[in-house]
Amino acid sequence: MKSYFEDISSKATYNIQNLFCNTTESLTQANQTADLQRENFEKQIASLEHELTNTQSDLESRTKKYEMQFLALTENLATVRGELKIAHEKLVDFEQIKREKADLQGRLTTSQDENRMFLERSLTSESRNEKLLLENGQLAKKNSDLESALQELAGEYQNLQIHTNKLTQRRWLNDQDVHECMKCNQLFTLTQRKHHCRNCGNIFCDTCSSKTAIVAAASKKPQRVCDQCFKELTS
Ligand SMILES: [Zn+2]
Ligand SMILES: [Zn+2]
Repeated sequence: MKSYFEDISSKATYNIQNLFCNTTESLTQANQTADLQRENFEKQIASLEHELTNTQSDLESRTKKYEMQFLALTENLATVRGELKIAHEKLVDFEQIKREKADLQGRLTTSQDENRMFLERSLTSESRNEKLLLENGQLAKKNSDLESALQELAGEYQNLQIHTNKLTQRRWLNDQDVHECMKCNQLFTLTQRKHHCRNCGNIFCDTCSSKTAIVAAASKKPQRVCDQCFKELTS
């Protein structure tokens, strides 16, 4: 009996020992695994920390770079704003110049029109001038013609004056000295009366002194003249 219990007890002890052994082994293995995992984690953490540091420094350098870029851009913006302001002023000036140009163009067109008008007027007055010159030439010719005609007339007038002087120097013949017509020789009687020619002063019958003519420039009334004087006075 005793051996049976002893046997069971030893078996149980063995089993427990065996179990303990197994458990210890498992624990050791688990510990080893945990250690391994911890090492891995630590490595990962270190790596991540390193990465983080890198990233931070990268970020810092980028931030600095961006800040510098921002500063540069701000300066550029200020410059661009200044340029924009200048450009705007120039644009205002340009608009002003454009308006002035349009105004000047309008004035130019007006003055061109005026110029054309003046030119037309000038051409018209030129042709009128030519016409007047032509008329002037014609008038000058007419004038010289008239002058020569006047000279001719003056000559004739002088001749006439000489002739008139000659004629006026003749005196009326006395009635008593003449007994017959000085042209047809008909004797004068009581019915055949004597007539003086008012131009030459000679005595004629009625038939030979039947005509009348203006004798002197002073008298406009026609006077009795002989046939010879009539011919001279009216030719
Ligand atoms: Zn007579
Ligand atoms: Zn007469």
